[in-house]
Amino acid sequence: MVDLGRIVVAVDGTSGSGKSSTCRGVAERLGLRYLDTGAMFRAVTWWMLHHGIDVHDAVAVAARAHEPVLSSGTEPTGPTIAVDGRDVSAAIRTDEVTRSVSPVSTVPEVRARLLALQREIIGDGGIVVEGRDIGSVVWPQAEVKAYLTADPAARAARRALEEGGTDVGATEQVLRERDRIDSGRATAPLVQADGAVHLDTTPYTLDEVISLLVGLVEQAQDPAP
Ligand code: C5P
Repeated sequence: MVDLGRIVVAVDGTSGSGKSSTCRGVAERLGLRYLDTGAMFRAVTWWMLHHGIDVHDAVAVAARAHEPVLSSGTEPTGPTIAVDGRDVSAAIRTDEVTRSVSPVSTVPEVRARLLALQREIIGDGGIVVEGRDIGSVVWPQAEVKAYLTADPAARAARRALEEGGTDVGATEQVLRERDRIDSGRATAPLVQADGAVHLDTTPYTLDEVISLLVGLVEQAQDPAP
């Protein structure tokens, strides 16, 4: 029996698999907090670009990794992210940040900094956390773990629609490249964590995926004998 107020729901998966919308929906339905760890990596990436640092120069990124001061709001209906007191919720969604975030995320100093921050925010639980390494590294003891994937072409079509872009082919290429870097890095690569339930979201609507995850939480709260 798990207390909902203390539960940690760890959701990892590939880019564009519907994690964000799903996790926000689950958190809203269950009255939990919500943490988008991807937004934290994007915020650090935005900061590096803003300060003219070459995001492909791992030594330069590592040297400045301790500088950006992040603040993440965990309200699922309106999550916020600020760096050095500046709201970057919109700025972190640009193509430039999206293209640059995976190289920055491979840098161990960046990961160590954000790992500490993520664990601090998770604290006593009552939260849905999405990312790439939540069930494997950040919170392996999570009561519920899911691993979301979707067919790359479907993901690209969905992402292109969300971002208002029209070039589905280019979007698919960026998603595949991010997955390649995220899965291949040495520190905390994207993997299906031990004990994670794999959900291929391709055939489901958002509402259906939310319901499937809520079902996993209910099962964890009241496991069958
Ligand atoms: O989830 P989102 O697509 O916004 O994540 C952006 C990037 O942040 C990912 O492609 C990945 O490089 C990085 N990331 C990570 N570990 C996490 C969350 C995101 O490396 N837990």
